[in-house]
Amino acid sequence: MPSSMKEKLANVLHELPKEDEKFDVIVQDAFPGALSNRKLLTKLVDILEKKGFYEENTLLATSLCCDELARKLESRLNGLYGHHFALGGLSGFPFAGFTGFAAMTAHIPDNGFCFCVYAPHVGITKDGVIGRVERKGIALVDTCCGSAIKASSYVYKITHGGAEISTDIQEFTDFQQSAVNELILPHAHNLSEAKDRMVALPFAIYETQDLLMRKIIKRGSLGLKRGIAILGGIQINTSPETLDYFLPLRFELINYRGEVEEDLLPLLMKE
Ligand SMILES: [Zn+2]
Repeated sequence: MPSSMKEKLANVLHELPKEDEKFDVIVQDAFPGALSNRKLLTKLVDILEKKGFYEENTLLATSLCCDELARKLESRLNGLYGHHFALGGLSGFPFAGFTGFAAMTAHIPDNGFCFCVYAPHVGITKDGVIGRVERKGIALVDTCCGSAIKASSYVYKITHGGAEISTDIQEFTDFQQSAVNELILPHAHNLSEAKDRMVALPFAIYETQDLLMRKIIKRGSLGLKRGIAILGGIQINTSPETLDYFLPLRFELINYRGEVEEDLLPLLMKE
């Protein structure tokens, strides 16, 4: 690894909270296999370096929620790979669509790569309540992800009663949330049957998000230069004192024809 990447990683890790074994048990119980951001970033830099990804030849792209908590991982990635092209909106869905993706690929350095991270997010409090998180300077332990939970309540009222009978279809002033509500409708049954709806919710959002991302990448793949590494999963936001986590669900190297060249997930999940 060039010393510059090593130095960047050291600087980024230096800013993160320490590992907390007791809290790690709580996170693993809800989301088995989740990696702390410390572990995730260390492994990512190592794996991607072996594939030839450095800051100089890599454009970072993200599809993460609007919530400032989603920036916690993104800003660490900025510290490694520079500014990102933002594809995402509420709940982390890639609202920039085909047009945004095509614009992004045009900004990939010549003969370089794109590294794209997409994920819904979910909060977990210090004592393990899922779907909520402590926020700096706010006494109220609020919901996270607010957009996903709002969509989940919308679906719940449809399946369990209480939905408003309305002739309104969509208004532009709340276009993204209306889209999130609609996109999670096919998960209504699974969410109703789930042992813990708050654990099932980010997986449901991820499934649709992953479908969308792959569709967008397939259509825009010709603009990819040396290729794209995609990391999809669930971002787990925690209190300001503890490390955030990420549960990787897809990590692949894809070429300009949109074909998967290598499944990198086993490397990332290796102990
Ligand atoms: Zn959110």
